[in-house]
Amino acid sequence: MLFVIDFDGTLSVGDTVDAMLERFADDRWEDLETDWLDGKITAIECMKQQLDLVEVDQVTLENFFRGIQLDASFIPFHKYISQFSKVAIVSDGLDHAIDVATRNAAIPAMPIYANKLSFKPNGVSISYPYQNPDCKAGNGVCKCQIAEQLSAGVGGPVVLVGDGKSDYCLAKYADVVFAKGKLITHCEQENIPFRRFQTFAEVLEVVKHWDIAKKRSITASGQLVA
Ligand SMILES: [Mg+2]
Ligand SMILES: [Zn+2]
Repeated sequence: MLFVIDFDGTLSVGDTVDAMLERFADDRWEDLETDWLDGKITAIECMKQQLDLVEVDQVTLENFFRGIQLDASFIPFHKYISQFSKVAIVSDGLDHAIDVATRNAAIPAMPIYANKLSFKPNGVSISYPYQNPDCKAGNGVCKCQIAEQLSAGVGGPVVLVGDGKSDYCLAKYADVVFAKGKLITHCEQENIPFRRFQTFAEVLEVVKHWDIAKKRSITASGQLVA
């Protein structure tokens, strides 16, 4: 089994990239965000241009990342599921933000797949090691491709926990979807079965009822069938 965990708005309470831009970037980042939400530019173009607007030094930005508020119930959730499942953070956000924030919150180390943040004098830049040119979603990180590669090694169902536009593409292929935020509306529109959640404590409650030992299959609505 594989759990694919989104970061911004899912493991972190707010959107880290937006918070960073709000704090350190020129206001023009919001126009770019609107263009992305309207489908005028891809996530890749959007983030690259937005990060060019950031003015900050490394120490200040890392301190900011340490202040990112995470869902505290992720720790017991992770402890439980890692007994029988592979777990990875797969995010269209920034690797260094995720790394600093999760370490600071004493979250156990796990694989992180995200866009690469680099520092330059008084600013930052982004690169996309997990981009997939064949993916129509146009995200920096192709969550479908990562999920496919990771699940090939472990087998069993793929479970997505997410909240936003970067999760749309994987929501279609995942065996179980836990959704909040915009992902709820998307699943409803696309007739993708899903379960609502607000915190990882709620996801844990559902998962605890799965009969993992009997290796029954899990339906897309998160129910186990014999
Ligand atoms: Mg998100
Ligand atoms: Zn994709």
